[in-house]
Amino acid sequence: NDRQPKYKRILLKLSGEALQGEGGFGIDPSVLDRMALEIGQLVGIGVQVGIVIGGGNLFRGAALSAAGLDRVTGDHMGMLATVMNALAMRDALERSNINTRVMSSIPMDGVVEHYDHRRAMRYLNGGDVVIFSAGTGNPFFTTDSAACLRGIEVDADVVLKATKVDGIYDKDPVKHPDAVKFESLTYDDVLERKLGVMDLTAICLVRDQQMPVRVFNMNKSGALLNTVVGGEEGTLVSG
Ligand code: UDP
Repeated sequence: NDRQPKYKRILLKLSGEALQGEGGFGIDPSVLDRMALEIGQLVGIGVQVGIVIGGGNLFRGAALSAAGLDRVTGDHMGMLATVMNALAMRDALERSNINTRVMSSIPMDGVVEHYDHRRAMRYLNGGDVVIFSAGTGNPFFTTDSAACLRGIEVDADVVLKATKVDGIYDKDPVKHPDAVKFESLTYDDVLERKLGVMDLTAICLVRDQQMPVRVFNMNKSGALLNTVVGGEEGTLVSG
């Protein structure tokens, strides 16, 4: 492949919703296969890939809490949902012959490895894809925060947040046809304009550590690879 990667190591954040396809709930295996293909293209050009997967396609603590469950219990359920998504993603990646490790922030001996920073670094350096599951392991956090945290911990060059829209807009582009897309933003722009791209905890974390975040459209085929070879996909948030 003649396309030279711009990044040596990335942290890709996939929302749970991204795995559910048109079904509206659960996991769509055909979506997983397409993602495995796109992730495989990165591995093929020598990019080290860490992945944080959400769980919103199965359970969200806030929604369970609104329905009457205890919030901490709901968040535990949400984190366990991310482990299920991670197992499904690993299955798709390994069927595409991509060596994949799943680590969990909550120990789950016999199912997945417990998160260990140094071991994760060894796997990434060895070219294995590492899926970080169970979020941060703590209730009241999100998988966006987990993605920023793990991205910073493993010294990724960028956090790539996959969404259904083409970047960050001044208003919801699905509801407002006149919405304007930003090419780039600073962390403070995101905070001041209250752009709901990630929760405040995640934004503050990347701002403190000056970790760049690119928001791009994962439904657009080839967008992930294009981002990694330096294409100006979506919106870049940086210092
Ligand atoms: N969650 C949590 N702590 C974390 C990450 C996630 O408690 O560090 C729970 C929380 O209930 C959340 C759910 O797991 O709603 C699924 O994660 P998230 O909503 O971030 O998934 P996504 O929106 O990316 O699919």
